[in-house]
Amino acid sequence: MVRAPDCLIVGGGIIGCTLALRLRQRGLSVTVLERERIGAEASSAAAGILSPQLEVDAPGPLLDLALRARTGYPSFVAELEAASGQSIGFASSGLIALCSSDAAAATLATRAEWQRSLGLRVDTWTSSDLSREEPACAPHRAWYFPDEMQVEPERLMQALGRACVQAGVVFEIAEVRRVVCEREVAIGVELDRQLRTAGAIVVATGSWSSQLAAGGVVVEPVHGQLVELRSGSRPLRHVVVSGGGYIVPRSDGRVVIGATEERTGFAKAVTAQGVESLLARALAICPALAEAKFERAWSGLRPFSPSGRPAIGPTAINRLFVAAGHHRNGILLAPATADLLVPSILGDPPEPLLQAFLPSFALRQDQKAQDER
Ligand SMILES: Cc1cc2nc3c(=O)[nH]c(=O)nc-3n(C[C@H](O)[C@H](O)[C@H](O)COP(=O)(O)OP(=O)(O)OC[C@H]3O[C@@H](n4cnc5c(N)ncnc54)[C@H](O)[C@@H]3O)c2cc1C
Repeated sequence: MVRAPDCLIVGGGIIGCTLALRLRQRGLSVTVLERERIGAEASSAAAGILSPQLEVDAPGPLLDLALRARTGYPSFVAELEAASGQSIGFASSGLIALCSSDAAAATLATRAEWQRSLGLRVDTWTSSDLSREEPACAPHRAWYFPDEMQVEPERLMQALGRACVQAGVVFEIAEVRRVVCEREVAIGVELDRQLRTAGAIVVATGSWSSQLAAGGVVVEPVHGQLVELRSGSRPLRHVVVSGGGYIVPRSDGRVVIGATEERTGFAKAVTAQGVESLLARALAICPALAEAKFERAWSGLRPFSPSGRPAIGPTAINRLFVAAGHHRNGILLAPATADLLVPSILGDPPEPLLQAFLPSFALRQDQKAQDER
């Protein structure tokens, strides 16, 4: 007979595992149920850009959460590297956004203006500033965001898995069929032919969260393909973004190029057209990459929330919680998401910021979006 844990987390991606670590550190017994392996889906597929300033389009709760996440990231990285004894490829080298057209330049100028008014750092670069800082980039005017960072998600997930195991989180490979409720209270989850009970249940199944959260959230998959090249010397020092695409240089000469955005349901095919468009975009940004070696291509499903924000917090069903819908920014937002959700699960007073991410808010926004269609 397996003793019921205080908390069962469904989904072993970055959101489920970071939450598991934090809950365990607060003394709860925690089991993560993952159908495949830790980091099997989006969390290992991601490029690893940590970019509140380019990813969030306006001041508000999402920017507050993203900036909080970025501020705390270096210590999250240090914690995981200490626990795992391995580097997770963290770099705080900043991000360059190229002005690929007059329209892009105008949008970036507006972004820089409101961000500066909030005290965030953004520098304007001429074409010669760019050539001096990144000689391999094709000439462009650009904006430089010096505080943006990057990490290697695959390594992060390995380190996070180890940190969880060391802390005493239990992992089980199992596919959850449904959440089992009795009179509006979640009492456990159903596996193949087994009921597993727990004090609290958290659905953190990324793009698959709508299937389990019993009306608690709407999450849709957005397919993204990526390519990795290897260059003899390090061609770029910063993350470079242009026209919706990006190049992320790793410290050892690898370069990640991303990413497509496709609504193809749960299909995850890497296509000739996808790879071709990524390579074309990358060579336009950095022509020197034409000589780089093709290493691999892969893809993942971003958990997109139509409300524009992740859903974090208790659902309408007692003892059932959700942490899902982090779309393009789950690597960045994971530690801040866990910090926001832990008090609710412990029964402590929630932070005011949680209010803006409650699943009930997300559902209202989704309904509004549907009504407007
Ligand atoms: C191409 C691409 C590029 C990205 N780039 C970035 C980036 O640069 N920066 C950034 O911050 N974010 C990025 N992201 C987004 C980020 O990867 C996601 O937001 C984040 O990984 C979501 O984490 P998750 O734990 O919610 O989901 P996932 O990592 O998808 O984990 C969900 C887990 O649940 C498991 N599961 C599903 N159903 C069940 C079930 N019934 N029972 C048991 N287990 C189940 C799955 O196997 C999976 O392991 C990118 C994503 C993609 C696809």
